[in-house]
Amino acid sequence: MSRRPIAILLFILAVALLSGGVWWVSFTTALQPIADRGRADLSLAADRLVGELQRFRQVAVLLADHPDLAPLLAQGQGQARARSVLLRTSDKVGTLEILLADAEGAVLASSSDAPTASVTGQPHFQRAMQGAIGSYHTRLNETGQRVFSFAVPVFVGGEVAGAVIVDVDMEAVEESDWRGDPQAIYFTDEAGVVFVSNRSELLLRRQSGAGALPPAALGYLPSTLQPFFSHRALRIGDLELWFVDAGRYIPARALHFSQPLPVIGMTGEVLISTAQAERIAGLQAAFAAALSFAFGALLFLAAERRRALSEKLEIEARANAVLEARVEARTRELSDVNRSLRREIAEREEAEAALKKAQADLVQAGKLSALGKMSAGISHELNQPLMAIQNFAANAETFLERGNTEVAASNLARISDLARRMGRIIKNLRAFARQESEPISDVDIVSVVDAALEVAHARLHQLGVTVDWAPPPAPVKVRGGEVRLQQVVLNLVSNAADAMERAPEKRLLIELAREGGKVRLTVRDTGPGIDDPGKIFDPFYSTKEVGHSEGMGLGLSISYGLVQSFGGEIRGRNHPEGGAVFTVELTASGMEQVA
Ligand code: ADP
Repeated sequence: MSRRPIAILLFILAVALLSGGVWWVSFTTALQPIADRGRADLSLAADRLVGELQRFRQVAVLLADHPDLAPLLAQGQGQARARSVLLRTSDKVGTLEILLADAEGAVLASSSDAPTASVTGQPHFQRAMQGAIGSYHTRLNETGQRVFSFAVPVFVGGEVAGAVIVDVDMEAVEESDWRGDPQAIYFTDEAGVVFVSNRSELLLRRQSGAGALPPAALGYLPSTLQPFFSHRALRIGDLELWFVDAGRYIPARALHFSQPLPVIGMTGEVLISTAQAERIAGLQAAFAAALSFAFGALLFLAAERRRALSEKLEIEARANAVLEARVEARTRELSDVNRSLRREIAEREEAEAALKKAQADLVQAGKLSALGKMSAGISHELNQPLMAIQNFAANAETFLERGNTEVAASNLARISDLARRMGRIIKNLRAFARQESEPISDVDIVSVVDAALEVAHARLHQLGVTVDWAPPPAPVKVRGGEVRLQQVVLNLVSNAADAMERAPEKRLLIELAREGGKVRLTVRDTGPGIDDPGKIFDPFYSTKEVGHSEGMGLGLSISYGLVQSFGGEIRGRNHPEGGAVFTVELTASGMEQVA
């Protein structure tokens, strides 16, 4: 399995963690200014509310000393005057009702047309009866109005004779003060009930977790107490984040601050939305995530590239390995082939050596065969001078007896000539029969032809062959071996003699021509011609009867090999006017480089 999905998952996890961290830090940082504003707003709102209520308290305190109220308490007189004071004051400061009650709680005068009947038992009144200023808040059952009341004692002759009670309509205070504020501000009483707020949803509701409702509060909240508004709290340092569920106009997530207001017996509280901080944190987290993803994408691309590269390298390495293996196999094959070639070469060399030996043997055999062919002629050739010598010697003897020394001397000279000639023939034969391997040198082909003709003379003479040979005056030097070349020429001459054995015209034509760096020897006869010119150089090809003239079919094939070994060429064909023509082309001496 690839590790890539895991890496991507881990990366996403890391980015999520990072952006989460960024979000949190940014969020908590952005909370500070919100908290500051919340605190400031709350203290401002609390100051306003307390200030406003204090204004009504002051009115109550001033009225308590009013000279027109004491007579009504003391003597029960001046009710109309007292009422007019209360009415005027109420109109001026904007209260719900101002009333004067006696020590028993019975209302003596009121600013209202439908005055409250009695304040007996009400906590602020009881407090006033003890000589202190009492305050109280409640909700009127008849109208549903929320009322905040102050009760200030009225002293007559140093005794508490009654109390001035100022009732304030809280809705009027709210409206004039901070209805339009963006944050939810509310004031809860000791029972935890929201009594004053700039959000009507919160009014007369209790926060969850505010504890059991004290029985005292039940007085003004019997049937109309709305359910709790729930919240969960989370502490962030010294801040308190509330998750509130109290309708759409109350922020769902808000910082909560509270401030006790002992002067009015309430606690001021504010819920300020954290939406702005969330927005900032969200933006910063998104930015961090985007940055991380961009960076990650770059990293991913780089890694992909590297991977692709290393894959490519791997493929190349694999290809290289395959190639190397192939090269190795091929090298092995080649060295095998090489070995077998070397073996073959050795075998060939052996075979060649054997062949050379066989060839040398054949040459010798060929020579002996030619000698055999000529032996009859040669014996005649030697016999003839011998007979002549015998005759000359006998004559010389006779002439000497007669004293004719001159003729005898000339006979002896003829004898010596004949002996020289016989010696030459024998020398040629000896040289011919000798198995020799003379090196290639410059040979006079004219003398070679002369020697061959001399050896073949007896046979040619016997057959009655006319030899047409005009040797050039100067030697013609060619490259070759003297004895071997003589063997070739002798072979051609004796083949011609064989061919013309029964021919009507017996003529042997020998010519020598020079052409460039070549010397061409032509031997032509007037015999019947060659039967199959394509085969004459094949070993053992012979048209001669077995036993006749010793035909073995080796003469021309041996001649072919010899001429080739001199760098020359031998050809045989039929002449257009009849008879066979053999040409031997040899390199002229001093022309080797040109040839
Ligand atoms: P051999 O003379 O022993 O037969 P050669 O190799 O010398 O062997 O000659 C081969 C053959 O070539 C001869 O048998 C003959 O048929 C042919 N041949 C050679 N020289 C001549 C020639 N001058 N005229 C006709 N045929 C020839």
